[in-house]
Amino acid sequence: MTDIFDNTILCKNCNLKMEKVAIERNGFHLRALECKKCGNKIIHPEDLKEYDGFQNLKKKNFRVKLRFVGNSYAVSIPREIIDFMHEQDSRMKEMVDLCLEEMGRVSLSFD
Ligand SMILES: [Zn+2]
Repeated sequence: MTDIFDNTILCKNCNLKMEKVAIERNGFHLRALECKKCGNKIIHPEDLKEYDGFQNLKKKNFRVKLRFVGNSYAVSIPREIIDFMHEQDSRMKEMVDLCLEEMGRVSLSFD
């Protein structure tokens, strides 16, 4: 099966061949086609679907319990989040970076 973007796609406004570009949005790398004349863009349907999945997950608020483990506190990261990230990048790391971003907010970084 060939990828839709391997075909020549013409801009509906200009009738010119659209060129492959990469768009970055919220840490997502989206494949897109762009018309260099009018700036019309088409995002790859598969990437758009994944991005929509991200947007839906982003809206969710998970309430998790803080537990005391050894000398530290632990929280469970919902599997839904890990599974989604795992789909994006199969190389899931065992070590993540954690920092106190601001008072009342701790962030985890997986890259
Ligand atoms: Zn155009």
